[in-house]
Amino acid sequence: MELRRDPVTQSWVIQEDGPVAWPTNGECPLCPGREALAPQTLYEHPFRQPNWQVRVIPHLRPLYRIEGDAQRRGEGLYDKMRSLGAHEILIESPDHHLSLSHQDDENVAQVLRAAVSRITDLKKDPRFRYVTFFRNQGARAGQAIEHPHSQITATPFIPRRIVYELRSSLRYYELKERCLLCDIIKQELAQQTRTVEWDDRYVALCPFASRVPYETWVMPINHHYSFEEDLTGWDGQVRFARFLKSTLQRLESVEPDYHLVLHTSPNVKAKFDKTGHWQSLDSDFHWHVEILPVAHVESKSYSVKEVYYNSLLPEAAARELRAATITV
Ligand SMILES: [Zn+2]
Ligand SMILES: [Zn+2]
Ligand SMILES: [Zn+2]
Repeated sequence: MELRRDPVTQSWVIQEDGPVAWPTNGECPLCPGREALAPQTLYEHPFRQPNWQVRVIPHLRPLYRIEGDAQRRGEGLYDKMRSLGAHEILIESPDHHLSLSHQDDENVAQVLRAAVSRITDLKKDPRFRYVTFFRNQGARAGQAIEHPHSQITATPFIPRRIVYELRSSLRYYELKERCLLCDIIKQELAQQTRTVEWDDRYVALCPFASRVPYETWVMPINHHYSFEEDLTGWDGQVRFARFLKSTLQRLESVEPDYHLVLHTSPNVKAKFDKTGHWQSLDSDFHWHVEILPVAHVESKSYSVKEVYYNSLLPEAAARELRAATITV
């Protein structure tokens, strides 16, 4: 497995020689009692008790490997490197059938706390430029193991979409001396056409140019550039857990399968980055969670990735999500 950079778009692609299956023998590798399959525990709650609630282990089929360095090299004009990084599984509950949105608030907060702890830990490694967590729910979203889990990755590069976001956040900040997402939040809360729900700390909304039906972003209303530095306290973790659950339940009432990804600040301590490069990062970037539901019916997009085609207006999507029945 190696990483190759597309010289035209500058985005990195993980290149593998043929797909590989999970080493599971048909049993769920994440259920209690199967801990021997992944003997290394990276995080656990409660710590070293017989009944764990949340557990983080190295991925059994990692996309990235943590040992060594990136061995960046060229092949003519092309760039490639080893698939260096970290790839971890965050097991969200011992219960094989309990989805995240239906766990109680405290348990979801423990999942968030585990993510905060792992991201903070991985960011201490100067080889990694970007650390994040994501979750694929449902087979159509590419969920490989049924057991509720999310994934944490650390990479020696910043993913392309984050590069775009960092660039336009910085440009906006240089122009207006304000945070782009703070301004979006203010305008959306004033208009209330694309807002799904909000409280005094968080807001969920369908973005103006939603890529897919029911695309939803969840963001802190008070500016903060880093998820893992913002959500260090238990109170904050519980509050965000409750809010996230509510948004997920609304989304699941219309589309049960989704991709969820955290967009937080890059690792400012990574090597090779120029001094002063991240000078205004804590003021210009605003962490958020993006949720992209996977539609039941194929959209009639003429090209899936080049130009997005979305057949549902975000204003209509938000209206429907606001009206959804939830149990939080
Ligand atoms: Zn299981
Ligand atoms: Zn902001
Ligand atoms: Zn984003």
